[in-house]
Amino acid sequence: MKRVFNFSAGPAQLPLDVLIRAQEELLSYQNIGMSIMEISHRSIHFKKVIERVEELMRELLQIPDNYKVLFIQGGASLQFSMVPLNLFKENKHASYVHSGSWSKKAIAEASKFGDIHIIASSEEQQFTYFPSFQVHQLNENTNYLHITTNNTIEGTRFTCTEELPKNGIPVVADMSSNILSEELDVSQYGLIYAGAQKNLGIAGLTIVIIREDLVGNTGVDCPTMLNYETYAKAESLYNTPPTFSIYMTMLVLEWLKELGGIPEIAKRNIEKAKIFYDFLDTSSFFSSNVKKADRSLMNIPFTTVSKELNSLFIQIAEQEGFYALKGHRSVGGMRASLYNAMPLDAVLELVAFMKQFEEKYA
Ligand SMILES: *Cc1c(COP(=O)(O)O)cnc(C)c1O
Repeated sequence: MKRVFNFSAGPAQLPLDVLIRAQEELLSYQNIGMSIMEISHRSIHFKKVIERVEELMRELLQIPDNYKVLFIQGGASLQFSMVPLNLFKENKHASYVHSGSWSKKAIAEASKFGDIHIIASSEEQQFTYFPSFQVHQLNENTNYLHITTNNTIEGTRFTCTEELPKNGIPVVADMSSNILSEELDVSQYGLIYAGAQKNLGIAGLTIVIIREDLVGNTGVDCPTMLNYETYAKAESLYNTPPTFSIYMTMLVLEWLKELGGIPEIAKRNIEKAKIFYDFLDTSSFFSSNVKKADRSLMNIPFTTVSKELNSLFIQIAEQEGFYALKGHRSVGGMRASLYNAMPLDAVLELVAFMKQFEEKYA
C-alpha cells in the first residue's frame, strides 16, 4: 500500500504509527471485543482514554494546576462564539488582533455580542505580516485580548510573547494550527483553544485550556452546551463527547511524548521550515511574500512566477505524489503545511522536486 506526501492544511496527515495503532485496535480495543467507537462514554475503558488525554496534555504543555482542560465539539469556529459568551462582563468590551481570515471570523462572531476593538491589523497588506501591538493600547476595561497565534491561511505566526499583557487582562489565543508545535508558556494565557484536525488528531474535537477563574461567570442566558462551566463540572462528559476523536488525540499525544515531547518536535519543526524557507530564499522562481520575521513554521504559502506555472506545478506535483499543495482560495498560489506529523524526508523530497521543476520551467 502506497501513501502519498500529504501537505494538507487540515484535516491534516497523521503520524503513520498512529494510524497503524488505530487500525490494530479498531475491531477490538484492548481485547474487549468492541471498538472504542462502540462503547459507552461512561465506560471505564473510555474514561481511561479521556483521562489519559488530559494527563498527556498537562504533561506535554506543563499546564498549571489552576487550568481546566475541556473537550468540546463545534470546531475552533464555535469558540469564536463561546469565548465572548463566557468571558464578556457587564460592559461587553473585547480587543482583537486582526491577523488573518480566521481572526476576521472570530471578530465577526464576537461583534454580535458586544463591542469589539481591533487593536492591530495587517489587513491592508493582505495579512502578509503579524501586526504588532502594545499592551498600553488596551482599554483597561477590556474583558480580554484575542490573538490568533498561527495564521493557517496566510502563513504568519505570533512570536512577541513579551508583548502579552501581564496586568490581569486575560489573553485568549486561537492555536488551532500551531498548538504543540513549539514551546509555550500556558500561564501567559487565560484561554487557549485548538481544533484537533491539524496538530492534535482528527476533526470533531476542540480542546480548550482555560484558567479556572474564567469559568462560570457567564450570564444566565448562556445555553448549557455553550457554557464552559458545563464541561468543567462534568469533566467533559455532560453529554456524549466525540469519543473516537478523543481516542485519536490520545494516540497522537502518546506518539509525541514517545519521540521526546515539545522540545524535540519544536527542533524538528524549525529544521523542516528552515529547509523550505532557505530554498525559497535562494530560488529566483519560487517565492513567498510573508515578512521574514513573522513566517509560520506550520503553513508556508508560496508562488511561482505566474498563475499558469502555479497550476502546472500543482498538477505535476500531484502526479509525483505531492498532495494538497494548492493554496487557500483566498490567497491563491501554493501552500505547504508542515505540521508535527510531517516527516523531514517528505520536506526534503518536496524541495528536491521543486528544484527540478524550477530547472525545467524557469
Ligand atoms: C482551521 C482553523 C480554524 C477553524 O477550525 P474549525 O475546526 O474548522 O472550526 C480556526 N482557526 C484557525 C487558526 C484554524 O487554523
